[in-house]
Amino acid sequence: MLDNLTNRLSRVVKTLRGEARLTEANTQEILREVRMALLEADVALPVVRDFVAKVKEKALGEEVVGSLTPGQALVGVVHSELTALMGGDLGPYAAELSLAQQPPAIVLMAGLQGAGKTTTTGKLARWLREGLHTHEGRKTGKKKVLVVSADVYRPAAIEQLRTVAAQAGVDFLPSNTEQSPEEIARNALEHARRYHYDVLLVDTAGRLGVDEAMMREISALHALLKPIETLFVVDAMQGQDAVNVAKAFNDALPLTGVVLTKLDGDSRGGAALSVRHVTGRPVKFVGVSEKLTGLEPFHPERMAQRILGMGDIVSLVEQAQQAIDQQDAQKLAAKLKSGSKFDLNDFRDQLAQVSKLGDMGSLMEKLPAQFAQAAGQLKGGQAEQQMRRMRGILDSMTPAERAKPELLKASRKRRIATGSGVPVQEVNRLLSQFDQMQGMMKQMKKGGMAKMMRAMGG
Ligand code: GDP
Repeated sequence: MLDNLTNRLSRVVKTLRGEARLTEANTQEILREVRMALLEADVALPVVRDFVAKVKEKALGEEVVGSLTPGQALVGVVHSELTALMGGDLGPYAAELSLAQQPPAIVLMAGLQGAGKTTTTGKLARWLREGLHTHEGRKTGKKKVLVVSADVYRPAAIEQLRTVAAQAGVDFLPSNTEQSPEEIARNALEHARRYHYDVLLVDTAGRLGVDEAMMREISALHALLKPIETLFVVDAMQGQDAVNVAKAFNDALPLTGVVLTKLDGDSRGGAALSVRHVTGRPVKFVGVSEKLTGLEPFHPERMAQRILGMGDIVSLVEQAQQAIDQQDAQKLAAKLKSGSKFDLNDFRDQLAQVSKLGDMGSLMEKLPAQFAQAAGQLKGGQAEQQMRRMRGILDSMTPAERAKPELLKASRKRRIATGSGVPVQEVNRLLSQFDQMQGMMKQMKKGGMAKMMRAMGG
């Protein structure tokens, strides 16, 4: 799915991860790569422009520039902007079908001929009948589903729906070309009410292109049925055209969501990225095969992750953001800026922050390879144990000693070692580690984060 886009963007991500320093020049270069990748994937030009402008603004902002790992922070920005672009800003449940209507909940299917409307109606019917997972593991609960076709122009379309309904194991209400679409809709509504269906899916007639008569017809059906969901089904392989047709439908009809079909094909994927931006409607499902099982709920965030080929970096960034007290971090930055020395109290705070990140082993796995190496070949458990001992040593010092490490002469060191239950050598080792760290902090003040990362071998 969206292989080319993924390949290109994951290359960008890889470069970024290795980038210890973001300059004006390499940031421009990276943004150019992102832009090219999106254009090549057939994302609409205004969408690309807007997207790149947003990422650029953030790339030059404090969040990225002031970060310990600017490259990674920029990856985080690209990821969150991609997620937002695809509707992630609407909240995790925006892509769920809303069925909270007095039953029957009515779902109207719209789209051009060949888009995959009938197939998708069958897929959704099965989905609802089985009460499959939607988002975050939430289940819809099994539904009693009725499907009907209002396509009075193509008898074959009605037969096709009969077939997929049987495959999906849901009830099919026969209709025929002698009836008007409104008549079919009225009958179906009555039938669904009388027999207590939870959901009524109404398949409609498509045309080869957007045309007035079709829009009038589906608008009339919409007025009559008052559906809680009006889903626009569109073939992702149509690229920019798909988005234009979606816009035309959305202007005529209050769509609630979009289903992108044929994402399994050699679709370049642009539609997945443009639909929300152009129509304001979220993609709710994607079709990934001709089979009735080939329907997936659309998760903007996971899609963004997939497109960026970024493994678990996102969870890592999130984990770090949640654990690290932003206020503490800012206090330390302000302190260093003001010319104060990095002392053992700060060192202790930092260790406390790092241990809040949680299990070191799982953390290391999420780190990009070069950082994991720099962090040493320590097994997670060992690292944690060592961290605990270091904190013990620091806790055995008085605040005055931590503020002025030069006070720590032999007798005090012995007291601290005894207090924390470690040999004196270990206290010395910690102090020399601290010296190194202080050296790095000085460099950082002179040459910025990037220099420090290099000093660490990042
Ligand atoms: P309709 O005219 O909009 O009702 O379109 P159909 O449901 O008849 O689908 C048109 C063609 O697209 C059929 O051959 C379907 O099997 C195929 N199709 C629909 N959805 C998908 C999908 O997600 N993946 C693939 N590969 N084919 C699909």
